[in-house]
Amino acid sequence: MVISQAAFGWCGVNPTKDMGSSLFNMLTHALDSGKGASKELRKLFYGCLTWLPWVVTFRRWGRMYRRERCNLAWNAKAFSSVRMLRLALKNLGFITETPWIWKPNLSYRPCFLGDDALLDLRPNTHQPLELQLHILRKMCKLQAFLGFTRQRHRRDVADLLEHYNEDELILAFSQIDLTKARKAAENSASARAVFMASFLSPAARYHGCGLEEFAELEDGCPFCVADCGTQHHVFWECPFNTAPVPPPRNFLQKRFAWPILGNPNNDAVIAHVCRTIEELWLLRHPP
Ligand SMILES: [Zn+2]
Repeated sequence: MVISQAAFGWCGVNPTKDMGSSLFNMLTHALDSGKGASKELRKLFYGCLTWLPWVVTFRRWGRMYRRERCNLAWNAKAFSSVRMLRLALKNLGFITETPWIWKPNLSYRPCFLGDDALLDLRPNTHQPLELQLHILRKMCKLQAFLGFTRQRHRRDVADLLEHYNEDELILAFSQIDLTKARKAAENSASARAVFMASFLSPAARYHGCGLEEFAELEDGCPFCVADCGTQHHVFWECPFNTAPVPPPRNFLQKRFAWPILGNPNNDAVIAHVCRTIEELWLLRHPP
């Protein structure tokens, strides 16, 4: 009951993280997005529809835009819709420029260029609601990505943090075509596995999980049987699994196959990675 009230923005509380988690886990379980997938990356792909704290913020924003903003007081009482929205935006990573105008925190701005650079909720604003919701969704996805980069216990995150600082991670993320990524994830289980980091390379299965289906190979690559079967090797270096396109320059695309804005090779990258995952699976599960 509280969840449904909160989801429609009827009550003056923001849903707790636990409340969001229980609903989100229920929904992502139904979507079967893979054991070992990062919960933060699941939020990145599905959270705008299913992660309750975000959904509440979008609805609250929409309500104010449509009906209430003409009579809203910036310094409204605690727990009023205005104060709850201001708090939610602050927690998301926006700073107040002037009353009713917010900008993303300085370090996030590579992701918010041009029309995305500010949120304007003034009564006379000409900024379309759909653009505003797009900016809010984009910030939520950026926060999910940054949440992923804080999961330091994960091998993939440790690997990223060893080579790149937060500014470089944000810049690389700003180039991701999230709309195309979501569509590709919806259409392919293999794409979901690599996009949400649940795919394990032969080396990771051997070293990280003690899984050794290729008994005589240990952590070796089952294609060439010569090198260590890391994710980078099986996707981009193995001479017996040649990619139709060069390795992506964006390190997030290279690792997770996420499409890049305006990159003509996106489909070829995703197809190559998915085919590799499926061939590895077939080698482990011969007919
Ligand atoms: Zn190989």
